[in-house]
Amino acid sequence: MTAITHPRVAPRRGGVGGTWWSKAFLRAVEEAAFSTAELKLGRAHARSGGVGAITVGEGTFVAAVFDRDDVFTVTGTVPVLPADDQSVLVELIAAEAGRIGALMAGDLPHPLVESVEEAGVELLPYGGELGSACTCEGWLDPCPHALAVLTQLAWLIQRDPFVLIQLRGLGRDEVLARLHALSRTLPRTASTAEDQESGDPDEIDDLAIAEEAALRAARELTLLKASGERA
Ligand SMILES: [Zn+2]
Repeated sequence: MTAITHPRVAPRRGGVGGTWWSKAFLRAVEEAAFSTAELKLGRAHARSGGVGAITVGEGTFVAAVFDRDDVFTVTGTVPVLPADDQSVLVELIAAEAGRIGALMAGDLPHPLVESVEEAGVELLPYGGELGSACTCEGWLDPCPHALAVLTQLAWLIQRDPFVLIQLRGLGRDEVLARLHALSRTLPRTASTAEDQESGDPDEIDDLAIAEEAALRAARELTLLKASGERA
C-alpha cells in the first residue's frame, strides 16, 4: 500500500474543462448522487475550497471536509481490480510504446482504455461503484460532503490518471515495478530489427522511466511535506 496525499485545492470558480476520462468519472459521480440538488451542493463545496487534502490509497480515499464550523471526515471506496485484471492492465500499458510515457505526462490514452475494455476490464468506475461514508450522518448517501470529495477526485484524476489506476488497486510505483519486471521476462515482439541497428532503445526507455519516477517521487515528497505543514 502506498497511499498518496494530494494537497488541499484552493477555491476556484466553475467551468473546469476536464479531460474525457475525468468527465467520465464525473458522470459516475452524477450517477451516484441522489438528486441534482445534492450534486450542486457538493460541487459548490468542492469549488469553495472546503475539502482538505485527499489521501488516495489502493481502492480507498479519505478527506476532511470543512462545513461552516464543523469538520467531517469522508471515507470512500472504489472496487480494486481482481489480480488477473490488474495484470491485463499492466500488460496492455506495456503493449504499445509511448503508453507509459503518456501516463507519466498526465494523459490517459483512449486506445489504451478501449483495449482494456475489450479485454473485459473496467478501469473507469460507474456510479454504483463509488462507495462513501461521512461523519455528518446525513441521511443521504452520498451526502454533499462526499460528493464534494468525489468531485475533487475527478479533478485529481484529470491531472494525473495514475490516481484512477491507484483507486483500481495499482499505485504508480507498483505499475512501474511490474512494467519493469515484464520488460525483463517477455520475449521481444516488436521492432527487433530497428533495435539491432540503433543499440537498445529499451534500456534508454527504462532509464527515462526511472528518472521520471524519481523526479515525481521527489515532487510528491515536497507536496506531502507542504500539506503536512499546513495541516
Ligand atoms: Zn457528510
